[in-house]
Amino acid sequence: IDLCKELVIAKVRKIELNMKTTQDIHIDGSKGEGGGQVLRSALALSLATGKPFRMSNIRAGRNKPGLLRQHFTCVKAAAALCDADVEGLALGSQELTFIPAFLKGGDYHFAVGTAGSAILVLQSVLPALVIGSDPVEIAIEGGTHNSAAPPWEFIDRCYLPALRQMGARIEARIERHGFVPAGGGRIVVRIEPVERLKPVHLSERGEQKIKVEAIFANLPIDVPRRMLSATAEKLHLPDDALFLREVKSSGPGGALAITVETEQATNVFSGFASKGVASEGVANEALKPARDFLASKASVGRHLADQLLLPLVLAGGGSFMTTRPSGHTKTNIETIRHFNDTPIIIRQHESASKTYQVDIG
Ligand code: ATP
Repeated sequence: IDLCKELVIAKVRKIELNMKTTQDIHIDGSKGEGGGQVLRSALALSLATGKPFRMSNIRAGRNKPGLLRQHFTCVKAAAALCDADVEGLALGSQELTFIPAFLKGGDYHFAVGTAGSAILVLQSVLPALVIGSDPVEIAIEGGTHNSAAPPWEFIDRCYLPALRQMGARIEARIERHGFVPAGGGRIVVRIEPVERLKPVHLSERGEQKIKVEAIFANLPIDVPRRMLSATAEKLHLPDDALFLREVKSSGPGGALAITVETEQATNVFSGFASKGVASEGVANEALKPARDFLASKASVGRHLADQLLLPLVLAGGGSFMTTRPSGHTKTNIETIRHFNDTPIIIRQHESASKTYQVDIG
Protein backbone atom coordinates (compact mmCIF):
# COMPACT_ATOMS: atom_id res chain seq x y z
CA ILE A 1 0.00 0.00 0.00
CA ASP A 2 2.84 2.37 0.91
CA LEU A 3 4.51 1.69 -2.42
CA CYS A 4 1.22 2.40 -4.27
CA LYS A 5 0.84 5.65 -2.34
CA GLU A 6 4.38 6.67 -3.22
CA LEU A 7 3.79 5.87 -6.88
CA VAL A 8 0.58 7.94 -6.92
CA ILE A 9 2.33 10.87 -5.21
CA ALA A 10 5.21 10.63 -7.67
CA LYS A 11 2.79 10.54 -10.61
CA VAL A 12 0.85 13.57 -9.32
CA ARG A 13 4.11 15.46 -8.78
CA LYS A 14 5.20 14.61 -12.31
CA ILE A 15 1.89 15.86 -13.73
CA GLU A 16 2.22 19.08 -11.71
CA LEU A 17 5.78 19.52 -12.89
CA ASN A 18 4.79 18.78 -16.47
CA MET A 19 2.19 21.53 -16.22
CA LYS A 20 4.57 24.17 -15.02
CA THR A 21 7.44 22.51 -16.89
CA THR A 22 9.50 24.60 -18.92
CA GLN A 23 7.70 27.86 -18.96
CA ASP A 24 9.62 28.39 -15.69
CA ILE A 25 13.21 27.84 -16.68
CA HIS A 26 14.41 28.25 -20.23
CA ILE A 27 18.17 28.37 -20.68
CA ASP A 28 19.87 29.54 -23.83
CA GLY A 29 22.89 27.20 -24.06
CA SER A 30 24.73 29.56 -26.41
CA LYS A 31 25.20 32.18 -23.66
CA GLY A 32 28.65 32.78 -22.14
CA GLU A 33 31.04 29.91 -22.85
CA GLY A 34 28.29 28.18 -24.81
CA GLY A 35 29.78 24.76 -23.92
CA GLY A 36 28.86 21.59 -22.11
CA GLN A 37 29.19 23.13 -18.66
CA VAL A 38 25.91 25.05 -19.10
CA LEU A 39 24.10 21.74 -19.57
CA ARG A 40 25.90 19.90 -16.76
CA SER A 41 25.27 22.67 -14.24
CA ALA A 42 21.61 22.86 -15.25
CA LEU A 43 21.28 19.08 -14.76
CA ALA A 44 22.94 19.23 -11.35
CA LEU A 45 20.75 22.12 -10.24
CA SER A 46 17.59 20.53 -11.60
CA LEU A 47 18.35 17.32 -9.68
CA ALA A 48 19.13 19.26 -6.50
CA THR A 49 16.13 21.60 -6.61
CA GLY A 50 13.55 19.42 -8.38
CA LYS A 51 13.00 22.25 -10.90
CA PRO A 52 12.49 21.25 -14.53
CA PHE A 53 14.18 23.15 -17.34
CA ARG A 54 14.29 23.50 -21.09
CA MET A 55 17.54 24.25 -22.90
CA SER A 56 17.97 25.42 -26.44
CA ASN A 57 21.13 26.05 -28.50
CA ILE A 58 23.02 23.40 -26.54
CA ARG A 59 26.79 23.86 -26.97
CA ALA A 60 26.18 26.38 -29.74
CA GLY A 61 29.56 27.94 -28.95
CA ARG A 62 31.45 24.77 -29.90
CA ASN A 63 32.67 23.51 -33.29
CA LYS A 64 30.44 20.46 -33.09
CA PRO A 65 27.35 21.80 -31.32
CA GLY A 66 24.68 19.70 -29.62
CA LEU A 67 24.99 16.64 -27.41
CA LEU A 68 28.16 14.59 -27.86
CA ARG A 69 28.46 11.19 -26.15
CA GLN A 70 29.73 12.74 -22.91
CA HIS A 71 26.82 15.19 -22.65
CA PHE A 72 24.35 12.51 -23.75
CA THR A 73 25.61 10.28 -20.91
CA CYS A 74 25.33 13.17 -18.43
CA VAL A 75 21.63 13.52 -19.29
CA LYS A 76 21.07 9.74 -19.17
CA ALA A 77 22.77 9.51 -15.78
CA ALA A 78 20.85 12.45 -14.32
CA ALA A 79 17.57 11.08 -15.69
CA ALA A 80 18.20 7.57 -14.32
CA LEU A 81 19.03 8.91 -10.86
CA CYS A 82 15.76 10.80 -10.51
CA ASP A 83 13.38 9.05 -12.88
CA ALA A 84 13.12 12.16 -15.05
CA ASP A 85 11.00 12.70 -18.13
CA VAL A 86 13.31 13.83 -20.91
CA GLU A 87 12.57 15.10 -24.39
CA GLY A 88 15.20 15.71 -27.04
CA LEU A 89 17.78 13.20 -25.81
CA ALA A 90 19.66 12.22 -28.97
CA LEU A 91 23.22 12.63 -30.15
CA GLY A 92 23.61 16.03 -31.81
CA SER A 93 20.40 17.37 -30.21
CA GLN A 94 20.45 21.09 -29.42
CA GLU A 95 17.13 21.19 -27.55
CA LEU A 96 16.34 19.36 -24.35
CA THR A 97 13.52 19.28 -21.82
CA PHE A 98 14.32 17.74 -18.43
CA ILE A 99 11.64 17.12 -15.81
CA PRO A 100 13.04 15.50 -12.67
CA ALA A 101 11.01 13.44 -10.21
CA PHE A 102 12.73 12.11 -7.05
CA LEU A 103 16.34 11.16 -6.47
CA LYS A 104 16.65 7.43 -5.86
CA GLY A 105 19.37 5.51 -4.07
CA GLY A 106 21.06 2.35 -5.34
CA ASP A 107 23.90 1.14 -7.52
CA TYR A 108 24.31 2.62 -10.99
CA HIS A 109 26.60 2.09 -13.92
CA PHE A 110 27.05 4.54 -16.79
CA ALA A 111 29.39 4.25 -19.77
CA VAL A 112 30.21 7.19 -22.04
CA GLY A 113 30.98 4.69 -24.80
CA THR A 114 33.93 6.75 -26.09
CA ALA A 115 36.93 8.39 -24.42
CA GLY A 116 34.63 11.30 -23.40
CA SER A 117 35.16 12.41 -19.80
CA ALA A 118 33.66 10.10 -17.15
CA ILE A 119 34.51 12.81 -14.62
CA LEU A 120 32.29 15.40 -16.25
CA VAL A 121 29.45 12.85 -16.06
CA LEU A 122 30.10 12.61 -12.33
CA GLN A 123 30.04 16.40 -12.01
CA SER A 124 26.60 16.65 -13.54
CA VAL A 125 25.07 14.57 -10.73
CA LEU A 126 27.36 14.71 -7.69
CA PRO A 127 26.30 18.07 -6.16
CA ALA A 128 22.72 16.82 -5.94
CA LEU A 129 23.59 13.34 -4.70
CA VAL A 130 25.56 14.63 -1.71
CA ILE A 131 22.31 16.13 -0.37
CA GLY A 132 20.05 13.39 -1.75
CA SER A 133 17.94 11.02 0.29
CA ASP A 134 19.57 7.58 -0.02
CA PRO A 135 23.10 6.23 -0.50
CA VAL A 136 24.22 5.89 -4.11
CA GLU A 137 27.14 4.07 -5.69
CA ILE A 138 27.98 5.02 -9.26
CA ALA A 139 30.51 3.42 -11.58
CA ILE A 140 31.31 5.53 -14.65
CA GLU A 141 33.36 4.42 -17.64
CA GLY A 142 35.03 6.70 -20.16
CA GLY A 143 38.00 9.05 -20.10
CA THR A 144 39.71 9.94 -16.81
CA HIS A 145 42.36 12.30 -18.27
CA ASN A 146 40.80 14.48 -20.98
CA SER A 147 41.93 17.82 -22.20
CA ALA A 148 39.57 20.67 -21.12
CA ALA A 149 38.09 18.53 -18.32
CA PRO A 150 39.09 17.85 -14.72
CA PRO A 151 41.50 14.89 -14.54
CA TRP A 152 41.14 12.27 -11.81
CA GLU A 153 43.83 13.95 -9.64
CA PHE A 154 41.79 17.17 -9.63
CA ILE A 155 38.65 15.38 -8.47
CA ASP A 156 40.47 13.29 -5.91
CA ARG A 157 42.61 16.06 -4.39
CA CYS A 158 40.67 19.30 -4.90
CA TYR A 159 37.01 18.90 -5.68
CA LEU A 160 36.07 15.99 -3.40
CA PRO A 161 38.07 17.32 -0.42
CA ALA A 162 36.38 20.72 -0.88
CA LEU A 163 32.98 19.01 -0.82
CA ARG A 164 34.02 17.01 2.27
CA GLN A 165 35.00 20.28 3.95
CA MET A 166 31.38 21.27 3.37
CA GLY A 167 30.22 18.11 5.16
CA ALA A 168 29.70 15.79 2.15
CA ARG A 169 30.38 12.09 2.67
CA ILE A 170 31.98 10.68 -0.46
CA GLU A 171 34.40 7.87 -1.18
CA ALA A 172 35.92 7.57 -4.62
CA ARG A 173 38.46 5.44 -6.42
CA ILE A 174 39.87 5.09 -9.89
CA GLU A 175 39.89 1.50 -11.11
CA ARG A 176 41.30 2.09 -14.60
CA HIS A 177 42.87 5.09 -16.31
CA GLY A 178 41.35 6.21 -19.61
CA PHE A 179 43.20 8.49 -22.04
CA VAL A 180 42.10 9.90 -25.39
CA PRO A 181 41.52 8.25 -27.86
CA ALA A 182 41.24 4.73 -26.39
CA GLY A 183 39.24 5.60 -23.26
CA GLY A 184 38.42 2.56 -21.12
CA GLY A 185 38.79 4.34 -17.76
CA ARG A 186 36.57 3.53 -14.79
CA ILE A 187 35.83 5.45 -11.60
CA VAL A 188 33.60 4.38 -8.72
CA VAL A 189 32.04 6.85 -6.30
CA ARG A 190 29.96 6.13 -3.20
CA ILE A 191 27.87 8.88 -1.64
CA GLU A 192 26.19 8.83 1.78
CA PRO A 193 23.89 11.85 1.61
CA VAL A 194 23.81 14.52 4.30
CA GLU A 195 20.85 16.78 5.04
CA ARG A 196 22.64 19.93 4.00
CA LEU A 197 26.06 21.22 3.01
CA LYS A 198 27.85 23.73 5.27
CA PRO A 199 29.23 27.00 3.90
CA VAL A 200 33.02 27.22 3.75
CA HIS A 201 35.25 30.29 3.64
CA LEU A 202 38.57 29.83 1.85
CA SER A 203 40.73 32.88 2.43
CA GLU A 204 44.37 33.77 1.71
CA ARG A 205 46.28 30.57 1.10
CA GLY A 206 49.45 31.13 3.16
CA GLU A 207 52.17 28.45 3.00
CA GLN A 208 52.17 26.06 0.08
CA LYS A 209 53.72 22.74 -0.90
CA ILE A 210 54.15 21.83 -4.57
CA LYS A 211 54.56 18.44 -6.17
CA VAL A 212 54.49 17.50 -9.83
CA GLU A 213 53.53 14.17 -11.32
CA ALA A 214 53.72 12.86 -14.85
CA ILE A 215 51.07 10.17 -15.20
CA PHE A 216 51.50 8.02 -18.28
CA ALA A 217 50.68 4.75 -19.99
CA ASN A 218 52.28 3.08 -22.99
CA LEU A 219 54.54 6.05 -23.79
CA PRO A 220 58.35 6.17 -24.11
CA ILE A 221 59.74 7.17 -20.69
CA ASP A 222 61.42 10.20 -22.23
CA VAL A 223 58.02 11.89 -22.78
CA PRO A 224 56.94 12.09 -19.11
CA ARG A 225 60.53 12.80 -18.01
CA ARG A 226 60.66 15.88 -20.23
CA MET A 227 57.30 17.07 -18.91
CA LEU A 228 58.70 16.91 -15.38
CA SER A 229 62.00 18.58 -16.13
CA ALA A 230 60.35 21.46 -18.06
CA THR A 231 58.04 22.08 -15.09
CA ALA A 232 60.76 21.75 -12.47
CA GLU A 233 62.94 24.28 -14.30
CA LYS A 234 60.19 26.92 -14.50
CA LEU A 235 59.03 26.46 -10.89
CA HIS A 236 62.54 25.90 -9.46
CA LEU A 237 61.55 22.61 -7.86
CA PRO A 238 63.91 20.05 -6.30
CA ASP A 239 64.01 16.46 -7.58
CA ASP A 240 62.12 15.12 -4.59
CA ALA A 241 59.06 17.13 -5.67
CA LEU A 242 58.88 15.26 -8.99
CA PHE A 243 57.13 11.93 -9.56
CA LEU A 244 56.86 9.60 -12.55
CA ARG A 245 53.72 7.49 -12.30
CA GLU A 246 53.22 4.76 -14.87
CA VAL A 247 49.67 3.38 -14.99
CA LYS A 248 47.86 0.65 -16.92
CA SER A 249 45.50 1.76 -19.65
CA SER A 250 44.08 0.34 -22.85
CA GLY A 251 45.87 2.92 -25.00
CA PRO A 252 48.74 5.38 -24.82
CA GLY A 253 48.36 8.67 -22.98
CA GLY A 254 49.82 11.04 -20.47
CA ALA A 255 49.07 14.00 -18.25
CA LEU A 256 51.01 16.35 -16.04
CA ALA A 257 49.55 17.34 -12.67
CA ILE A 258 50.99 20.23 -10.61
CA THR A 259 49.52 19.89 -7.13
CA VAL A 260 49.64 22.92 -4.83
CA GLU A 261 48.67 21.99 -1.31
CA THR A 262 47.79 24.77 1.13
CA GLU A 263 46.08 24.95 4.50
CA GLN A 264 42.90 26.27 2.88
CA ALA A 265 42.52 24.05 -0.17
CA THR A 266 44.47 21.90 -2.61
CA ASN A 267 44.61 22.81 -6.31
CA VAL A 268 45.74 20.72 -9.25
CA PHE A 269 46.81 22.35 -12.53
CA SER A 270 47.15 20.00 -15.45
CA GLY A 271 48.25 19.53 -19.02
CA PHE A 272 47.45 16.63 -21.33
CA ALA A 273 49.65 14.80 -23.81
CA SER A 274 48.30 14.71 -27.34
CA LYS A 275 49.69 13.84 -30.75
CA GLY A 276 51.86 16.62 -32.15
CA VAL A 277 52.29 18.43 -28.80
CA ALA A 278 55.81 18.34 -27.34
CA SER A 279 56.28 17.38 -23.68
CA GLU A 280 57.27 21.01 -22.99
CA GLY A 281 53.93 22.12 -24.47
CA VAL A 282 52.08 19.83 -22.04
CA ALA A 283 54.10 21.32 -19.19
CA ASN A 284 53.26 24.86 -20.34
CA GLU A 285 49.53 24.08 -20.40
CA ALA A 286 49.72 23.22 -16.68
CA LEU A 287 52.23 25.95 -15.84
CA LYS A 288 50.17 28.88 -17.11
CA PRO A 289 47.29 28.59 -14.57
CA ALA A 290 49.69 27.36 -11.86
CA ARG A 291 51.85 30.49 -12.20
CA ASP A 292 48.81 32.78 -12.22
CA PHE A 293 47.74 31.10 -9.02
CA LEU A 294 51.18 31.32 -7.41
CA ALA A 295 51.41 35.03 -8.33
CA SER A 296 48.21 35.72 -6.38
CA LYS A 297 47.18 35.24 -2.76
CA ALA A 298 44.28 33.01 -3.79
CA SER A 299 43.46 29.65 -2.25
CA VAL A 300 41.18 28.55 -5.10
CA GLY A 301 42.51 28.19 -8.65
CA ARG A 302 40.58 28.99 -11.83
CA HIS A 303 38.98 25.54 -12.32
CA LEU A 304 38.09 24.88 -8.71
CA ALA A 305 36.51 28.36 -8.68
CA ASP A 306 33.90 27.62 -11.33
CA GLN A 307 33.18 24.18 -9.89
CA LEU A 308 32.82 25.31 -6.26
CA LEU A 309 30.07 27.82 -7.03
CA LEU A 310 27.30 25.29 -7.37
CA PRO A 311 27.89 23.38 -4.10
CA LEU A 312 28.35 26.68 -2.23
CA VAL A 313 25.04 27.96 -3.58
CA LEU A 314 23.42 24.69 -2.45
CA ALA A 315 25.05 25.25 0.96
CA GLY A 316 23.41 28.69 1.07
CA GLY A 317 26.69 30.61 1.23
CA GLY A 318 30.45 30.72 1.47
CA SER A 319 33.37 32.63 0.05
CA PHE A 320 36.76 32.14 -1.54
CA MET A 321 39.77 34.01 -2.85
CA THR A 322 40.66 33.17 -6.42
CA THR A 323 42.50 34.37 -9.53
CA ARG A 324 40.88 36.36 -12.38
CA PRO A 325 37.44 34.77 -12.95
CA SER A 326 37.32 32.59 -16.06
CA GLY A 327 34.61 32.49 -18.72
CA HIS A 328 33.42 29.24 -17.10
CA THR A 329 32.99 31.00 -13.74
CA LYS A 330 30.93 33.82 -15.26
CA THR A 331 28.86 31.38 -17.31
CA ASN A 332 28.22 29.17 -14.31
CA ILE A 333 26.93 32.16 -12.34
CA GLU A 334 24.45 32.89 -15.15
CA THR A 335 23.28 29.26 -15.21
CA ILE A 336 22.91 29.13 -11.43
CA ARG A 337 20.75 32.30 -11.50
CA HIS A 338 18.09 30.42 -13.44
CA PHE A 339 17.53 28.10 -10.47
CA ASN A 340 18.59 29.97 -7.37
CA ASP A 341 18.67 33.63 -6.37
CA THR A 342 21.50 33.42 -3.82
CA PRO A 343 23.67 36.50 -4.53
CA ILE A 344 27.15 35.82 -5.93
CA ILE A 345 29.45 38.83 -5.86
CA ILE A 346 32.94 39.00 -7.37
CA ARG A 347 35.31 41.88 -6.66
CA GLN A 348 38.98 42.52 -6.94
CA HIS A 349 40.66 41.87 -3.61
CA GLU A 350 41.76 45.10 -1.99
CA SER A 351 44.89 43.65 -0.37
CA ALA A 352 46.40 41.88 -3.37
CA SER A 353 46.58 42.41 -7.10
CA LYS A 354 45.66 39.44 -9.33
CA THR A 355 43.40 38.19 -6.54
CA TYR A 356 39.61 38.23 -6.49
CA GLN A 357 37.13 37.70 -3.70
CA VAL A 358 33.95 35.70 -4.42
CA ASP A 359 31.11 35.99 -1.87
CA ILE A 360 28.09 33.74 -2.05
CA GLY A 361 24.95 34.43 -0.03
P1 ATP B 1 32.55 21.14 -24.74
O1 ATP B 1 31.28 21.86 -24.77
O2 ATP B 1 33.62 21.63 -25.64
O3 ATP B 1 32.38 19.65 -24.88
P2 ATP B 1 32.93 20.55 -22.18
O4 ATP B 1 31.73 19.69 -22.18
O5 ATP B 1 34.26 19.90 -21.97
O6 ATP B 1 33.06 21.42 -23.41
P3 ATP B 1 33.10 23.04 -20.84
O7 ATP B 1 31.90 23.87 -20.96
O8 ATP B 1 34.31 23.48 -21.60
O9 ATP B 1 32.66 21.64 -21.11
O10 ATP B 1 33.50 22.85 -19.28
C1 ATP B 1 34.65 22.17 -18.88
C2 ATP B 1 34.69 22.04 -17.35
O11 ATP B 1 35.89 21.33 -17.02
C3 ATP B 1 34.74 23.34 -16.60
O12 ATP B 1 34.05 23.19 -15.37
C4 ATP B 1 36.24 23.54 -16.31
O13 ATP B 1 36.54 24.24 -15.11
C5 ATP B 1 36.68 22.10 -16.14
N1 ATP B 1 38.09 21.96 -16.52
C6 ATP B 1 38.64 22.16 -17.74
N2 ATP B 1 39.98 21.93 -17.70
C7 ATP B 1 40.28 21.56 -16.42
C8 ATP B 1 41.46 21.21 -15.73
N3 ATP B 1 42.64 21.16 -16.35
N4 ATP B 1 41.38 20.92 -14.42
C9 ATP B 1 40.22 20.98 -13.76
N5 ATP B 1 39.05 21.29 -14.35
C10 ATP B 1 39.06 21.60 -15.67
